[in-house]
Amino acid sequence: MDLIVARGRDDLVKARRAGTVALVPTMGALHEGHRSLIRQARVRADQVVVSIFVNPLQFGPNEDFSRYPRTFDADLEVCREEGVDVVFHPAADDLYAADRQVSVSAGEMGRVVEGAFRPGHFDGVLTIVLKLFNLVQPDLAVFGQKDAQQLALIRRMVADLDLPIEILGAPTVREPDGLALSSRNRYLSDGDRQVAVTLSRALRAGAARFTPAEIRQTARAVLDEAGPGLDLDYLALVDPATFAEVSEGYEGLAVLAVAAKVGSTRLIDNVTLTLNPA
Ligand code: AMP
Repeated sequence: MDLIVARGRDDLVKARRAGTVALVPTMGALHEGHRSLIRQARVRADQVVVSIFVNPLQFGPNEDFSRYPRTFDADLEVCREEGVDVVFHPAADDLYAADRQVSVSAGEMGRVVEGAFRPGHFDGVLTIVLKLFNLVQPDLAVFGQKDAQQLALIRRMVADLDLPIEILGAPTVREPDGLALSSRNRYLSDGDRQVAVTLSRALRAGAARFTPAEIRQTARAVLDEAGPGLDLDYLALVDPATFAEVSEGYEGLAVLAVAAKVGSTRLIDNVTLTLNPA
């Protein structure tokens, strides 16, 4: 079946087939990480919808909205190769009325860790995701663990607002040397690229230790070795459900998350680990 490009609600309604629908929300510039999400959706649903929309609401005034990569034709090709049924590619003006008033608040959990460096970011993410859920009406939706706080907040939104949608988390796809794939990696110069791998190296080194203090210290030491080419925003060891920092003695799953600017590019990464396994 040919790939359908939908621009609005009417197109989506027309494209709808019987059976389960999976949504994979993206901002385009699709890479292997996105492909892995699409494949997970393909296995679970009769119809796969990929949304491609660079959401202005989730970018701060000094962030990279205008220079975010837009590669729509190449993205369509990726979607064709992966057997996607519908690409939803709305125009910002159609999605957001000039006089809109109501949006979703991510609450306190949206103001910590990544949210502390990007005020309003998660409100913007949850608002677009809820709008996409309402427009596409999927049975399930797939998100990457690469954006761990986003995934956790989407799970909270689904629980707190009683949304009838199953959320699937997909593992982070990495380059052979460990760098997490990101649409923003294309901004990295050769020199930046060498430095960027420090993020995943630091997370791996930290995850090999056992107590919160050791984990933080070890990861921090690796980040420090990178020198001035790496401008750290945060290194955080948090409870995956709340994104609150964990204390000594914490038991169970934790997320070790990092964000840093490498050159002019801001990168994030994280790993999940288990503390004090019995
Ligand atoms: P984005 O286009 O960056 O908004 O990402 C769209 C979806 O792809 C989100 O759910 C991301 O978490 C996910 N994603 C981005 N990079 C990766 C990756 N390297 N591995 C797996 N999923 C990813």
